[in-house]
Amino acid sequence: MKIIMLGAPGAGKGTQAKMIAEKYSIPHVSTGDIFRANIKGQTHLGMEAKKYMDEGKLVPDELTVKILLDRVANEDCKDGYVLDGFPRTIPQAEVLTEALEKMGDKIDYAIDVAVPDENIVNRMSGRRACVNCGATYHIVHIPPKTENICDKCGSELILRDDDKPETVLNRLKIYHEQTQPLIDYYTEKGVLKTVDGTKDMKDVFADIVSILG
Ligand code: ADP
Ligand code: ADP
Ligand code: ZN
Repeated sequence: MKIIMLGAPGAGKGTQAKMIAEKYSIPHVSTGDIFRANIKGQTHLGMEAKKYMDEGKLVPDELTVKILLDRVANEDCKDGYVLDGFPRTIPQAEVLTEALEKMGDKIDYAIDVAVPDENIVNRMSGRRACVNCGATYHIVHIPPKTENICDKCGSELILRDDDKPETVLNRLKIYHEQTQPLIDYYTEKGVLKTVDGTKDMKDVFADIVSILG
């Protein structure tokens, strides 16, 4: 099962992708997580990506496509995966479609987690991420058991630099310009499914499970 998560930054793609990955035992592949791991490890890729991420811009396709194709070529992805944050542009989607076609394969579902812009700044300003394991919380909607401490590993939770309101508005603008066209792209391919992302996390997941079966 090969699944793509679509939706604005902060719509809940990562939250749902992690639950899908666990239920269906497939890897959760997040390009944002891969970039952040590279920034933490101070790799060349990380340093390059950081310049764009800090401004809320997209990392150029040349850099992004290669790391994604390498990742999904990995043995653990052969029975499927859930992509979170990729593709984000039409050229990225085309590269993915072509790479899959070469293997006689395709994306089975593109799930659009729909959340209106007015809710996004609140989602992002309340988002907290674990510095160690990447688990995400929301200070109001999905709080950790102990304030600022990760339930899963006990490490500190932080507000991501790019989740500050100024950057969020820029990311939203770029989402509408460059990523939203993917909704038409996957509709034409007959694989788009839309879920109401304003519902409670568990209800959104139940809707997704009823789609995936
Ligand atoms: P969010 O989950 O809030 O949408 P991500 O963790 O997916 O954020 O991505 C964080 C940042 O990483 C993006 O704002 C962008 O700069 C970069 N990034 C992640 N995935 C891609 C991609 N497919 N193409 C270009 N840039 C990307
Ligand atoms: P994305 O990967 O699309 O950027 P996240 O999954 O990181 O989004 O979610 C953004 C923020 O909203 C996080 O703080 C997360 O805990 C919270 N969140 C996720 N789903 C919901 C929901 N259904 N209702 C309320 N808050 C949510
Ligand atoms: Zn953690």
